[in-house]
Amino acid sequence: MNSHSHSGIGMTSQRTRDRLAQRLQEKGIQDQVVLSVMRTIPRHLFVDEALSSRAYEDTALPIGHGQTISQPYVVASMTEALLAAGPCQKVLEIGTGCGYQTAVLACLVGEVYSIERVAPLLRQARVLLRKLNLYNLHLKVGDGIEGWKSSAPYDGILVAAAAEEIPEGLLMQLGEGGRMIIPVTTANGVQELIRVTRRGSEYHCETLGIVKFVPLVRD
Ligand code: SAH
Repeated sequence: MNSHSHSGIGMTSQRTRDRLAQRLQEKGIQDQVVLSVMRTIPRHLFVDEALSSRAYEDTALPIGHGQTISQPYVVASMTEALLAAGPCQKVLEIGTGCGYQTAVLACLVGEVYSIERVAPLLRQARVLLRKLNLYNLHLKVGDGIEGWKSSAPYDGILVAAAAEEIPEGLLMQLGEGGRMIIPVTTANGVQELIRVTRRGSEYHCETLGIVKFVPLVRD
């Protein structure tokens, strides 16, 4: 059995992906375009082969280097929250990891810029995203806390690691009407998912829920 084929059979098949999308919808994801994208992206290719049978469970999984691939529900709800106010042309992602969220975004927005601090993870992500014929993305190794100035402003910023506070540099790179989805660790150690929307010089914050991410590391 070739568990890494695209159409796949058994635990990595289209039917398994359809079931995952069904589960995400039951958990409250409403954006049908997000769900249909997650129905097409072969998440099992983003995890180690030994874990591919678990790739369509709604759970985070280890990807090496002490990092994880985010839980599908979290990827779906962050993407939904980002796109709720309308389509995005240019999106900055912090924390490429294995590139799964990057792939989801690339199917939904004009251009994705994504930064990862762990070079071997980015290298793997680059190879895989190319293999999936996704070309509207730009990847680099670096400290995402600084953002990616030369391509700013962005109409969306999605941070996939928990920050102690919202990085000033990222706020500066948000365009007019732009929004940022970011997990922020509060005083009592809980992580809240925050959506920041920029209106002129004002930044409007909403709390979307409680989440659990690996920490955003400052290099
Ligand atoms: N987006 C991934 C989730 C990756 S986990 C997915 O689709 O599953 C979060 C990632 O953020 C890790 O790979 C970690 O190395 C990276 N990270 C942490 N701090 C960072 C920083 N300051 N800049 C860039 N990447 C960072």
